[in-house]
Amino acid sequence: MQKGKGKVRQLDLERALTARDRVGVQDMVLLDAHNSETAFLDNLKKRFSEDLIYTYIGTLLISVNPYKELDIYSKRHMDLYMVVNFYELPPHIYALADNAYQTMLAEANNHFILISGESGAGKTEATKKILQYYAVSCPSSSLLNSVRDQMLMSNPILEAFGNAKTLKNDNSSRFGKYMDIQFDCQGDAVGGHILSYLLEKSRVVHQNHGERNFHIFYQLLEGGDDDLLRQLGLERDTQHYNYLLQGECAKVSSINDRNDWKSVKNALSVMHFDLSDIEHLFGTIASVLHLGNVQFDRDTKGNAVLNSNAELRWVSKLIGVHVQVLTEALSYRKIEARSDEVLCPFTVDHAIYARDALAKAIYGRTFTWLVNRINESLENQDSNRKTVIGLLDIYGFEVFYVNSFEQFCINYCNEKLQQLFIQLTLKAEQEEYEAEGIEWEPVQFFNNKIICDMVEEKHRGIISVLDEECVMPGDATDLTFLEKMEKKMGNHPHFITQKLADKKTRRSLERGDFRLLHYAGEVTYCVVGFIDKNNDLLYRHIKEVMRQSKNSIMQQCFTSDEVDSRRRPETVATQFKNSLQGLTEILMAKQAWYVRCLKSNDNKQSGRFDDVLVRHQVKYLGLMEHLRVRRAGFAYRKRYEEFLKRYKPLCPDTWPHWRGVPAEGVERLVQHLGYQPDEYKMGRTKIFIRYARTLFATEDAYEIC
Ligand code: ATP
Ligand code: MG
Repeated sequence: MQKGKGKVRQLDLERALTARDRVGVQDMVLLDAHNSETAFLDNLKKRFSEDLIYTYIGTLLISVNPYKELDIYSKRHMDLYMVVNFYELPPHIYALADNAYQTMLAEANNHFILISGESGAGKTEATKKILQYYAVSCPSSSLLNSVRDQMLMSNPILEAFGNAKTLKNDNSSRFGKYMDIQFDCQGDAVGGHILSYLLEKSRVVHQNHGERNFHIFYQLLEGGDDDLLRQLGLERDTQHYNYLLQGECAKVSSINDRNDWKSVKNALSVMHFDLSDIEHLFGTIASVLHLGNVQFDRDTKGNAVLNSNAELRWVSKLIGVHVQVLTEALSYRKIEARSDEVLCPFTVDHAIYARDALAKAIYGRTFTWLVNRINESLENQDSNRKTVIGLLDIYGFEVFYVNSFEQFCINYCNEKLQQLFIQLTLKAEQEEYEAEGIEWEPVQFFNNKIICDMVEEKHRGIISVLDEECVMPGDATDLTFLEKMEKKMGNHPHFITQKLADKKTRRSLERGDFRLLHYAGEVTYCVVGFIDKNNDLLYRHIKEVMRQSKNSIMQQCFTSDEVDSRRRPETVATQFKNSLQGLTEILMAKQAWYVRCLKSNDNKQSGRFDDVLVRHQVKYLGLMEHLRVRRAGFAYRKRYEEFLKRYKPLCPDTWPHWRGVPAEGVERLVQHLGYQPDEYKMGRTKIFIRYARTLFATEDAYEIC
């Protein structure tokens, strides 16, 4: 290294360090203490306190929820980030969106952006920002504007029907969503397609204290005009409905149900829902509220009898099924005995179970219908070749005080996504090294495949054991399911129950619990309700009745194929497992981009950065591991052209222009900067830099030159 030059870099470094001390580094790869979680967190915190909520790890974007509106999402910002390389501007969700888009156009291939993080971390907001960026920034024509509007408008509809206030988030998505945005070869957004995953239907009939049912119920009661409510037989007061009472928090200060109702109505018209669709849609929503108020008394023989049929009359009117037929379906079970059918009266508990199952089925199927209907509007008619960017906004890892079947499914989904992340990241790294002709150096990391297998393996996994119990006639209970699991996976290092645990761990485990050691940490699940929820049983008799419905949406939701089929319907867990398998296949065929959302605190407060909470998320989102993978071997790589474009002022040979082959210019540049031979390698199209500190020094020199 030239003597003078070394001295200049030293001085410059001091100035740069002072600036960095205040705002941190914009890419974690540049951190000095690269294996230190504390340094990682410090950096996030520093940036957060300066309202810099975005930070990179290479091309992965970390976003920390600021819980306040920041002035960084204007049209001006969108224009700023358009066709600009990463690193040239502060990290931003628009930079990631734009880079995915530009790469898609340049390489004519498919991409997806996986947005993950725990409830309230900002996944849905991030998804919306990306969608808005594409809607505003992509080239446009008036025809395509309507596609774009429809894509944006699908959001308020799906949020109204699929989101709810929970303890963690006032607008929590209670379903997983994958949305493909299709682009033509000019880069115009021409269509879209949505897949939804596992709506939390149990919320329709039960909410914990401090939580609400799905937004649409409150929007309808608050915003619907008098005529509409009269036609639907509804009272405006939410307290009138059993399905809306339990959480005791119908009004939420951050939510304006009346305005949201207007947005939903507007969105439905932009999506070209016709009047009859809309009438039937609100009819089904109202029928669920009425169903919740249907009560049963016990007769002298202990059988269920309807307490009054006023509410059921409304249900019958709204879904177009004769009231007598409906009453019978909710009071008796039809049992087939040889060629005969026998009606067997329900107990009150059974009747309530049947009623709630029907309410969940109506709501869940209406949601699926809505997604299909939106897809019809978003469908692109043009058969020319298209490339896509998929946006995945899916529930993050969940740990509650009591964890049930829903958390089991959600956490399994997160294991699958972590597995995909490992496969794709390592695969991408390896492929890049190979493509660039650089030797691949294997990386050590925890592979969670063992946990995925424990859940999903055929005949041996937890889902198989659960399904087996679900088809057992008669005596299967949640506890027999637990015992079977103990038998099958007693020795598994990631599975513990009270019986299997040693004294130390046993203390906190009850007999009805099982604990899984997830990659993100331990979660204790309570087996109560697993069999029921997995079966999600809707009596055949009720399905037959619903098939006769005059409501056009219900007609599409309850088909004769289903009723006529003698096959046992797939269990919920198996359906979910299969849909995740499908999703994995969709994603594996695309180039991945990641947004990891972090929650800054548990109180939805702006300006508060809770170290313990963030540290925990950093851990289970595998961010340190990602950083390790990125830094293993070569911490940093950059295309020759880009490297040269940025750093050419640092060398008299390359400044102001390098007219030769870019790789040679880069070689000249790094020689001039004094890079040692072990510090870098020249690939086919990129320079690979082994240590972050090397690039760091270069970056410092650049910043002050
Ligand atoms: P869930 O898993 O429960 O659906 P989520 O990760 O989708 O949670 P969001 O609904 O996106 O969480 O965010 C929760 C709230 O945090 C938002 O309603 C908003 O108030 C705030 N928020 C999130 N991201 C941002 C942001 N970039 N700027 C300002 N506020 C934000
Ligand atoms: Mg969400």
